[in-house]
Amino acid sequence: MRDCIFCKIVAGVARAQRVHEDELTVSFMDLFPASRGHLLIVPKRHFSDILGADDASLARVVANSRRIALALKRALAPDGIGVHQLNGAAAGQTVFHYHMHLIPRRMGDPTGFHGRRQASEVELAEVAALIAGALAEIP
Ligand code: 5GP
Ligand code: ZN
Repeated sequence: MRDCIFCKIVAGVARAQRVHEDELTVSFMDLFPASRGHLLIVPKRHFSDILGADDASLARVVANSRRIALALKRALAPDGIGVHQLNGAAAGQTVFHYHMHLIPRRMGDPTGFHGRRQASEVELAEVAALIAGALAEIP
């Protein structure tokens, strides 16, 4: 999809701080994080939402959600981790390429999905490296 920002990130045409890639998915830091460590897992194939997604991509997104959540726990020691996805503008979706949010949470934090501030490349690169390092240790 030519005008889809996540397709551009998958293709390497748009920048993102990646933490993981396999043949079906790419995982990268959210540019407007709801908390430090907020990342997204996207299928390489373009589907606007879960309704059009294929089973293999969905299964891999969920399996990677578990492994990356373990890495988040080891790297950042949050109190909890939100694993969420939204379908359609009415549900709050803003980028129409299916994706899973992983959001580390501290007790008492607000629970919204969207941050208000664009994170700097430096802070995203730093936290991406921490998470990728923890992920490399997970079997
Ligand atoms: P949605 O609202 O569709 O569930 O989530 C879309 C997410 O994509 C938001 O959390 C938003 O911050 C993030 N996002 C939007 N544009 C970009 C971008 O260009 N790069 C990255 N890394 N994240 C983005
Ligand atoms: Zn796309």
